[in-house]
Amino acid sequence: MRNPCPETEILAAYLENNLPLELIEQMEAHLLECRLCRRVISQAIKSESAVPDPIIHRKSLS
Ligand SMILES: [Zn+2]
Repeated sequence: MRNPCPETEILAAYLENNLPLELIEQMEAHLLECRLCRRVISQAIKSESAVPDPIIHRKSLS
């Protein structure tokens, strides 16, 4: 691995599309060579879609 793994906050910002283009390019270059980060990203995407929308959940309770 040539590049160190980005901070968790960077990964989170990447998932939320909150990264400047420059960092997105760096992230994607890193993801190409880092299986670990690809796994973190794909797991984050999965768990995000698995979590029910809290507003909908609250409505169904009342
Ligand atoms: Zn990495």
